[in-house]
Amino acid sequence: MRKDAFVRTSDFLSLSIQIYNILINTGNEIFTSLQDLLTRRKQKILLVTHENPDGDAIGSSIGLGEVLLHAGHDVKIVVPNDYPLFLHWFSSNVEIIVHIRQKKEARIHFEEADLLICLDFNETKRTAQMRKKVEQFSKIKVLIDHHPNPSEFCDYMISEPEYSSTAELVFDVIDRIHLMQHLHHHAAEALFAGIMTDTGSFSHNISRPQTFQTIARLMEWGIDTEKIHAAVYHNFSAHRMKLLGYSLNQNMEVLPEYRTAVMWLSQKELEEHHFQPGDTEGFVNYPLSIRDIVFSALFMEKNDHVKISFRSKGNFPVNDFSRTHFTGGGHRNAAGGECALPLDQAVEKFRQLLAGYKHQLLETTI
Ligand code: 5GP
Ligand code: MN
Repeated sequence: MRKDAFVRTSDFLSLSIQIYNILINTGNEIFTSLQDLLTRRKQKILLVTHENPDGDAIGSSIGLGEVLLHAGHDVKIVVPNDYPLFLHWFSSNVEIIVHIRQKKEARIHFEEADLLICLDFNETKRTAQMRKKVEQFSKIKVLIDHHPNPSEFCDYMISEPEYSSTAELVFDVIDRIHLMQHLHHHAAEALFAGIMTDTGSFSHNISRPQTFQTIARLMEWGIDTEKIHAAVYHNFSAHRMKLLGYSLNQNMEVLPEYRTAVMWLSQKELEEHHFQPGDTEGFVNYPLSIRDIVFSALFMEKNDHVKISFRSKGNFPVNDFSRTHFTGGGHRNAAGGECALPLDQAVEKFRQLLAGYKHQLLETTI
């Protein structure tokens, strides 16, 4: 690319960013306080994210963690449980502690941190076994998240549901608190991966032109987007592919009268397919590629409950559905929840509920 063309692109982007409203929910005083905190002296900063961390959870944590580390802070990431192998390729100097396996280290970091930054979740319940530690943390707590309706559990709440991903939001926060000079290649890779995974490779969750502007700006750090895509999506085990084939072939029920499909997996079936964390990531999206299906659900049997993923197309709000019937939440088109019933009864409860939504499902526009 010609150098002068590159400069013109950057000028155009910074101009457009000023024109569009960004960070509309967050008052200036929050950024001023954060900037003050992060530029005055070295801080011990703990970044935490939600259970079963996904690409956005890990990407936004590593992206922000790398920037804060580069800015001279002492930074650690604590995640509630293990994250998938396809998210282990990041180059990062920020240590990631897995709470479920490293409770003692996690406890020490919670005790010693000056600042706790909560990324990609809107209620403390999402941190599972870490919940008490997050709630009882007595120093400054910051939320950076894009899920709607957050509970007020932080001193500084940066909650922007218009954003595609927490990673995209982190990029703007870094800009806003004047830490952009500390963004570097590895951080840019992590933030790109967060945006890519939460938007299904830029196919959903994008309602603002700024998302693509942020991607364009991240590419100025020389990241290899094809390499990142392959690292995430071409990195599965053969067992995982067979589990996907089995789930679609044996355990998918299509209910055209409700424009809905449901899938389920028992613990026994998961074990038979050598299940590893992250293996079922994305399974729930497949039924949405059936013509006319607008609502998809995946029920997975865990030790003491059933974990459910919901996805939809168009204006059918799966977060409301999940909140009402399965103590869950999330985004309009991607949500999760849980159920204390045995697996078959949980799926049956779902089937029974559909009649009450028939009209809404049939009216759903894509
Ligand atoms: P997934 O189906 O990929 O686990 O989750 C989809 C979306 O729903 C994510 O944005 C996730 O944060 C949210 N989500 C998943 N499970 C729950 C839950 O139990 N409660 C709430 N409030 N949100 C959830
Ligand atoms: Mn997210």
